[in-house]
Amino acid sequence: MIFLKTEDEIEQLRASNQLVGRTLAEVAKLIEPGVTTIQLDKVAEEFIRDNGAIPTFKGFKNHLGIPFTGSLCTSVNDEVVHGIPNDVPLKDGDIVSVDCGTLLNGFCGDSAYTFCVGEVDETVKQLLRITEASLLKGIETAVVGKRIGDIGYTIQQFCESESYGVVREFVGHGIGRDMHEDPQVPNYGRRGTGPLLKRGLCLSIEPMITQGKREIFMDKDGWTVKTVDGLPAAHFEHTIAVAAGKSEILSTFEYVEEVLRNKLK
Ligand code: MG
Ligand code: MG
Repeated sequence: MIFLKTEDEIEQLRASNQLVGRTLAEVAKLIEPGVTTIQLDKVAEEFIRDNGAIPTFKGFKNHLGIPFTGSLCTSVNDEVVHGIPNDVPLKDGDIVSVDCGTLLNGFCGDSAYTFCVGEVDETVKQLLRITEASLLKGIETAVVGKRIGDIGYTIQQFCESESYGVVREFVGHGIGRDMHEDPQVPNYGRRGTGPLLKRGLCLSIEPMITQGKREIFMDKDGWTVKTVDGLPAAHFEHTIAVAAGKSEILSTFEYVEEVLRNKLK
């Protein structure tokens, strides 16, 4: 069942998603060789709770009933999504996808950004650029009158034209009072298919793009999704409210980008 949101509900979703954007920026400040993902997780959880919200990922049970132990999903290199924060230090040249979810005043935020750790290989940086660009192209497509399949079609065509792999098994989703609502938002698809996009539909769009083949497997921890060929994968996610002409991005990378710019100085 698809729930269309009122303007007031969209504002609530915006507040939750802006908090996610600010949390990702707190994490961005700390990302450097030597830091562990569990350190990042601790800072994120404190920041979320200090701002009156709950980290929605923590305790979230998967289909096997295994609760997620982190407040962030931290997926390093060949880990695609749902990596569990651990005490392994990040190394120079790694990439780490940080996915963050909040519940603020009963509404969910969900956004992810893939960061470089120190100096990253140019080919991997290009994977990150294309994945983020595909997200923005998907969002441009996600306007009133289009269909869910149009979003996936756009992301898939763009990424496959650059010879990257598009993960099929994990998808974006509707979002509202629940983190995962209908409809599913695949990153592949056929034009003109799937549910019609209407004003008030709020979606989390999250391309998961691989440098090599698109095949993935589940690690024995029951959560971490990895590429079969061991090549890196990138993941960027925004939550949007569908509108006519141009949809509104409720989450933000603005705070993250500010931190990254300051680091270069
Ligand atoms: Mg997410
Ligand atoms: Mg999501």
